[in-house]
Amino acid sequence: MREFVYDRALDVSGALALLDADPDARYLGGGTNLVDLMKTGVERPTRLVDVRELPLDGIEPTADGGLRIGATVTNSDLAAHPEVRRRYPALAQAVLAGASGQLRNMATVGGNLLQRTRCGYFADVTKPCNKRVPGSGCPAIEGEHHNHAILGASEHCVATHPSDMGVALTAFDAVVSYETADGSGELALADFYLPVGDTPHRETALPPGALITGVTLPPAPVAARSRYRKVRERASYAFAIGSIAAALDVQDGVVREVRLAFGAVASRPWRATAAERVLTGAPADAETFAAAADAELAASKPLPRNAYKVTLMRNLVVAVLAELAEEAAR
Ligand SMILES: Cc1cc2nc3c(=O)[nH]c(=O)nc-3n(C[C@H](O)[C@H](O)[C@H](O)COP(=O)(O)OP(=O)(O)OC[C@H]3O[C@@H](n4cnc5c(N)ncnc54)[C@H](O)[C@@H]3O)c2cc1C
Ligand code: SF4
Repeated sequence: MREFVYDRALDVSGALALLDADPDARYLGGGTNLVDLMKTGVERPTRLVDVRELPLDGIEPTADGGLRIGATVTNSDLAAHPEVRRRYPALAQAVLAGASGQLRNMATVGGNLLQRTRCGYFADVTKPCNKRVPGSGCPAIEGEHHNHAILGASEHCVATHPSDMGVALTAFDAVVSYETADGSGELALADFYLPVGDTPHRETALPPGALITGVTLPPAPVAARSRYRKVRERASYAFAIGSIAAALDVQDGVVREVRLAFGAVASRPWRATAAERVLTGAPADAETFAAAADAELAASKPLPRNAYKVTLMRNLVVAVLAELAEEAAR
């Protein structure tokens, strides 16, 4: 690990100024991803600006009935918050499905959204990787890719985004707020992560040096009946090989409103808009659920060793929607 300067920011303007002055500086949240990447040489910051003392650790209701979550709220505090559990249960479930208790006590909301892919070639500085070294190639396409993308990838990168939290936030139309030295801004999560294209090293639409200050969840009554289901290779302490955040409102046997997002299938949390279109206004039955899954997965382009994900995601959609519909009928 190389030497670096450690600073603890006490206010937002101080944090922004430190980043502005040093293009190789990085914000430090819980450090659970960044420090690992520093140890392997993937990240080589000259300065870490610790943001955990900033006054960004609250979870507050918004005037319109949503929730505002500060960027330094820990994953543990987010999952335990009574309003999150009551109004957006899939979000609490998604967070609890991630990492371990110790990691969730350290990890922050901002850091979770900006964690890097778990592609093994990305983490190994002795290997080529277009995301780490643009133009060097993507060995995963011919090599190890059993947990890589089936949707939205390109011939330049087939990595997936590892966040569970981000999948639920995507389903609920969350908006990320940030500050820069030039002012503040907002990005809907749908626009937050950039398409892979030929620039897999450019992952988000955040301006350089931007500090994430929080995430706002708009009011969503449908989210009160929601679920996060994660499939992984062991029962805990493992990243997803496929996951789904779903919310469903059924009246008189017909789908009135639905939210659906997939995890571990694309370079970003994947909002299943094609499936949502098939579902809305249709009978809430197994046939519709399967047709919705097929509509979304029609665009999938699996690689030789990850085609299982297409079946996995189809089964997840049908099973989780059936459970939510059954609950609605009780
Ligand atoms: C063994 C292990 C298992 C894991 N399993 C899972 C899992 O199953 N599911 C899952 O979702 N995650 C999992 N994780 C990942 C974990 O959730 C992330 O490491 C964590 O959420 C990152 O948060 P952090 O605050 O520690 O980020 P950091 O490591 O501090 O930072 C990550 C990135 O975000 C940037 N950053 C941090 N805060 C801000 C901010 N406010 N504004 C702008 N930039 C910022 C940093 O500069 C850095 O680039 C696992 C991690 C480990 C080590
Ligand atoms: S999939 Fe992406 S992250 Fe993995 S080796 Fe290819 S370019 Fe790198």
